[in-house]
Amino acid sequence: MNQVSSQRWQQRIFLGGWTPGHGETVPVIEPATGDHLGELATASAEDVDAAARMAAAAQPAWAALPFDRRAAIMRNVARLLQERATEINRWNVRECGSIPPKAEWELNATIEQAHMAAAMPMQPVGEIFPSSMPGRRNYWQRIPIGVVGVIAPWNFPILLGLRSVLPALAMGNAVILKPDVQSAICGGLLLAEIFEDAGLPAGVLHVLPGGPATGDALVRHPAVKMISFTGSTAVGRQIGETCGRMLKKVALELGGNNAMVILDDADLESASSCAAWGAFLHQGQICMQAGRHLVHRKVAERYAELLAARAAKLVVGNPATGPVHLGPLINDRQAAKVADVVERSLAQGARLLTGGQRDGRFYPATVLTGVTPEMPAYTDEIFGPVAPITVFDTDDEAVELVNGSDYGLAVAVHSASVSRALNVASRLRAGMVHINDQTVNNEFQVPFGGMGASGNGSRFGGPASFEEFTQTQWVSVLDQGIQYPF
Ligand code: NAD
Repeated sequence: MNQVSSQRWQQRIFLGGWTPGHGETVPVIEPATGDHLGELATASAEDVDAAARMAAAAQPAWAALPFDRRAAIMRNVARLLQERATEINRWNVRECGSIPPKAEWELNATIEQAHMAAAMPMQPVGEIFPSSMPGRRNYWQRIPIGVVGVIAPWNFPILLGLRSVLPALAMGNAVILKPDVQSAICGGLLLAEIFEDAGLPAGVLHVLPGGPATGDALVRHPAVKMISFTGSTAVGRQIGETCGRMLKKVALELGGNNAMVILDDADLESASSCAAWGAFLHQGQICMQAGRHLVHRKVAERYAELLAARAAKLVVGNPATGPVHLGPLINDRQAAKVADVVERSLAQGARLLTGGQRDGRFYPATVLTGVTPEMPAYTDEIFGPVAPITVFDTDDEAVELVNGSDYGLAVAVHSASVSRALNVASRLRAGMVHINDQTVNNEFQVPFGGMGASGNGSRFGGPASFEEFTQTQWVSVLDQGIQYPF
């Protein structure tokens, strides 16, 4: 069945309007079945150039609109996302292998982002400072950056694209969104329709599906003044280097190898429930996935048993045709990578408690024990449904293990003593720490982001979105011109 035949974006990109892209045409493949869902047009470097010029021309008028007009458009976006929820969620399930509850959660979280963005333009945009010069007034105001390029991954394509697109637009920027080709319908083209229908002026948002070459053209374009990138650490490093050379603002939200730390007084029923959710949700394809389970020796065996029992009950299959806990991995390469990491860790002495058998793009919830810090299951960001368990003996050792990773995204600490858990948390190098919960957490009003190899200190959400998507300007005012000594 060709899913895209009746859509306004069939074989089109959104470049000031719906137009054929000059990049290659890419098949849209459903990961669960291998079915061909349609054809996707992609953008060439010339398309990126045209979009960047158009965006730069459209941005000043957009920023100059009364703030309540920008807010109203963001509210329309929220309403249209809600109205088209069934269609968007269906695409998220079929195009990206999401289970329906994940798709629904993602869309609802995005609608919250849209409400937050609608509230941003009415917030104060500056402050007044004293001056040492008599008669002078100093103020400091937020101004847009100009054209912002947003590069998004395929795992939460709607939320991770729009958490940058919405606040950037709300603060008066023009935006070029480049979704991944594996998620470009729900994470790009459907969204472009929604912004168009919401009344966003033409030229202010462009949606250009494409691969690394399209992304690279966006990063290098001189008219694009900021890049907001969410994706792998390897690509983030390259983008950071290019932006550094061009002195371009860059927000990098990158990979993770996040730890669940289970102290010896933890409630193991709750900890293992948190662990199952954090490790297996969306087949483990989440930057905040609980990828390392660091457990005190006294409770490690019981924790492993409880987690393995939960994992063994999880149903794997096609999320479009029946209720399952785990859908497919995004592509064959990713499935092969997960299997390879597990096999190499087993060869190095890890023990398989449950799971571990790949079936094409499907991989079951897998629990490994006896994992040591040298094994690939410990060192790598697996991006699959695998929970490797490593034992520690003291709180100090747990802190050392967490901080031994280059990544620094999310950590969860479990203990019956909140003060003990907080004491451990305060020593962790991670952008987000959750006590007695799991690692996969996102709330639109709270600044989100990583440290170290997980990002460059960029933060999205609540007050952080103002910082990321504006720049500041000092303006001083004198009533009359003055005379300097020469
Ligand atoms: P990826 O880095 O391969 O791709 C991400 C995006 O970058 C895609 O749109 C891709 O087309 C584009 N891209 C690839 N090469 C590029 C280049 N050279 N120049 C410009 N753009 C380029 O990552 P992925 O495999 O799609 O996503 C998974 C990774 O993303 C994981 O490492 C995960 O942890 C990370 N991630 C991080 C967060 C976060 O908020 N920190 C959220 C989700 C995913």
